[in-house]
Amino acid sequence: MDSTATFLENLRPAGSKRSSKRDFIVNVFLRQEGHITADTLVDLIRREDQRISRATIYRTLQWMVEAGIARKVDFGEGRFRYEHSYRHPRHFHLICKTCNRSFEFLSSDIETLIEEVATARNFAPRESLLQIHGTCEACRTGRAPAAAEGGVPELLFARDALRVAIATERSGRDFYARAARLTRDSRGRKIFEKLAGEEKEHLGTLEARYAELLRQDPELESRPAFLFFKGAANGLFAAGAEQLSKGVNDREALMIGIKCERGSHRFFKRYGEKFEDSEGKRIFLEFADEERAHLELLIREYRGLVERQRRRGRKR
Ligand SMILES: [Zn+2]
Ligand SMILES: [Zn+2]
Repeated sequence: MDSTATFLENLRPAGSKRSSKRDFIVNVFLRQEGHITADTLVDLIRREDQRISRATIYRTLQWMVEAGIARKVDFGEGRFRYEHSYRHPRHFHLICKTCNRSFEFLSSDIETLIEEVATARNFAPRESLLQIHGTCEACRTGRAPAAAEGGVPELLFARDALRVAIATERSGRDFYARAARLTRDSRGRKIFEKLAGEEKEHLGTLEARYAELLRQDPELESRPAFLFFKGAANGLFAAGAEQLSKGVNDREALMIGIKCERGSHRFFKRYGEKFEDSEGKRIFLEFADEERAHLELLIREYRGLVERQRRRGRKR
């Protein structure tokens, strides 16, 4: 994973001079999670170094916005807030008008919709903002905010991406295990067994990655959902398993597997491509590749089976 220094090095335009004051301000800013006002940043900086002027801090903030290190957000309070974009994927906001807290979420369905509208109107979108203003749960119920609120968006994103991938992997494994039991053709059965084994192995890898995330934030599991989308790929395999149980021949079983893998591959690729560079994006795209490999294997096997059956038919 990139260190803050590498991140800044990449952002700094060639030939521009390093300024230690600027680096100090940037570092303090990057340590903050959430959405802070310029005044809050001034307080944080001046607590550590009285010699840095308000004007310098404002200028640096402006420079960070232009350099893409900071994003300026307007929650309708009459002043701007700033959030850093380092390991912080683009997202949308829920804003509580009572306590002024904001909550982040991501939905590639919304991004797809924005893209569709822009394309239909021949419009080149530069930036899309979505804010949902209202009252948060704590303000609505009078209960104290859950301790697990907040968290690092990059970790939440990775957590949600891994959960979807793990659920898909599990239903894929169950699907292939069932298909292996039902298939009469010995080669077809071997393929299903092989795929069940692979899904199980991948599942282990994904679960290890999930455990690694939990080590970075022990509260991670109880934090609210960050990533939203319509449907999920694991439903495809569950429906496939259901079809298998109705009694199918070997060809049909392979065809159902092909449909599930194709749907799963498309799901992870479609969503993964919409995300900004992040661990969550990588999880989705790597998973999309694995599913494509399975898809190709099944297609080859299907063709092989059709060919074998044709030859057998001729001998008879
Ligand atoms: Zn509130
Ligand atoms: Zn935000």
